[in-house]
Formats: sequence, structure tokens, C-alpha cells
Amino acid sequence: MSESTLPEIKTVGVIGAGQMGSGIAHVCALAGLNVLVSDISEAQLEKGVASIGHNLDRQIKKGLISEADKSAVLDRISTGTSHDIFGDCDIVIEAATENEEIKRSIFKELCQHLRDDAIIASNTSSISITRLASNTDRPGRFIGMHFMNPVPLMQLVELIRGIATDEDTFASVKQFTDKLGKNAVAAEDFPAFIVNRILLPMINEAVYTLYEGVGSVEAIDTAMRLGANHPMGPLELADFIGLDTCLAVMYVLYEGLADSKYRPCPLLVKYVEAGWVGRKSGRGFYDYSGDKPVPTR
Ligand code: NAD
Repeated sequence: MSESTLPEIKTVGVIGAGQMGSGIAHVCALAGLNVLVSDISEAQLEKGVASIGHNLDRQIKKGLISEADKSAVLDRISTGTSHDIFGDCDIVIEAATENEEIKRSIFKELCQHLRDDAIIASNTSSISITRLASNTDRPGRFIGMHFMNPVPLMQLVELIRGIATDEDTFASVKQFTDKLGKNAVAAEDFPAFIVNRILLPMINEAVYTLYEGVGSVEAIDTAMRLGANHPMGPLELADFIGLDTCLAVMYVLYEGLADSKYRPCPLLVKYVEAGWVGRKSGRGFYDYSGDKPVPTR
């Protein structure tokens, strides 16, 4: 089917109202689409919608959108805690916690609520799209759609075909990505795809550098900002991504590529075990309880 004859994606479902799910809902609604967002937690849904409002305010301040745009965007977003809200969706994008068991159980339950022609996309950072797809009733209409954080600001979306993903699905999702004003890059279905295959080992190495006492948190981040011209230091970035997500990606690389060079740093494991998972928990390599982040080591 040529791109022009593909059915247009007009109604989008998003599963998970965390950092990524709320960002994805934001950009979809801003592109004029109807958006339904689900989460297991009602409190998280409220938090997600509040963060969309906050980020829209930032766009108003920058002169990118108007007050009227903000209320139209918020009007286009509805929420619920059950998958039965997704019955009219053309696509559902899963952005729940980076845990294969959680994602598998979501897909199993989700399929029975969808139209037969609906596409399922996963925003996973690392897990095999082929394996996730095989757990659904529609491996041909399943794809990886990996948005970057923060979604309203970042241009890239990696599109990952599972072994069974059909070409109409890829073309529809590419067209949809263009409509969101994002740039799509195709990546093969290997652990962590392109961006995180390169980025996460660097972050993990930064944690080893801290663990071995080569530098403090501040020294490591300053060194990489000023010495490698990175906009954020690797430990700041790890806190921003979420240390739980970073660790989950490292395990997928370690197990999926069976190479000890991807072994997660024990300090990263310890931080996650302590619940110090970064910005979203108030503490990671920095403490976020005051006005300014303060390095913890
Ligand atoms: P998060 O912890 O901020 O949000 C996860 C959300 O999923 C939470 O609101 C949680 O309540 C919800 N959830 C958990 N189980 C659920 C279920 N069964 N049904 C519905 N909702 C459920 O995490 P995040 O950073 O938004 O990451 C979400 C996904 O996006 C992960 O797969 C992650 O790998 C991927 N991702 C993250 C980043 C990043 O920088 N953080 C970037 C790209 C992709």
C-alpha cells in the first residue's frame, strides 16, 4: 500500500502516564489527535496530566503555542485505569515500566479491547520487539516506537520492526511520526536498538568511574559537559532517564548480547535497590529536594 492510501491515525491510546507516556500524549494531542491515556495508578494519571499542563505552559512562555492551544490540547486528552477506553484507537502506544513481564501482561489483556486493524507500538528502550509481538494476537501490526525524553523537545523516534511487522504497519507509523513533527530512524530489532546500545554503556561506564573513585559526581559530569561537549553530564542524564530504566536496559544488553562488557555497575544496582532512581524519586546521583540539585557523592 502506498503511504497516501494508508488509513490515517486519528485516535491514539497511550499506556502508562509516567515521564514518557505523558510526553507522548502531549505531542499527539498537540498534533490534533484524540488521545486516551491509561495507567494502573489514578494518582499517576493526575500527575501525568498536571505535567502536560506544566510543559504546555513552558511552550506558551517560549511563544510556541497560545493559551487557546493549551486548552484545546488538554480537551483532547482523556484518561482511565482500564484498557476498555482503547476500543476506538487506531494505535496504542505502550509506555509502561521497563519490565518484560509487565509489558507482556499488558499486551495480553489489551488485545481483547482493540479493533482488529489497530496497531500496537511499544516505547520500550531495549526489549525485543519480536518477543513482545509474539505475545499478542497481531505480530504483523506490532512495532517498536522509541520516543526520546523529554518527548516534546526531542526530535528522534526510533522505529523498530519485529521479524513479523508488516510493511503497511511500518509505513503507517512512519507517516504518523512525520505528523508529530518528529524524525524517524529505522533500527533493527537488537537489544536496546541504536541510541541506547551506544548511550547506556557510556552511562554505565560513568557509574563505574564514580564507583572506582576516579572522580566525584560533579567532576564526572563537568568533565563530560566541558570535555566532550555533551549538553548534560552522564550521571545527570542517568537521573533524568531514571536509574531503574538504565539498569533494566543494561540487563537487556548483558543478557541479550551475552557479553560481560555490558555488566551493570554494582553501584547502579545498589542505587536502584535503595529506591534512589533519580529525579522522579527525588534522589539519584543528585538530591533534588532543594532548589538546586546537589551531588550525593
Ligand atoms: P515511569 O516510571 O516514569 O512511568 C512508568 C508508568 O507505567 C508509571 O506511571 C506506572 O504507574 C505505569 N505502569 C506500570 N505498570 C503498568 C500497567 N500494568 N498498566 C499501565 N501502566 C502501568 O517510566 P518512563 O520513564 O515513562 O518509561 C516508560 C517506558 O518508556 C519504559 O519502557 C522505558 O524504557 C521507555 N523509555 C524511557 C525513556 C526515559 O528516558 N525515561 C526514554 C525512552 C523510552
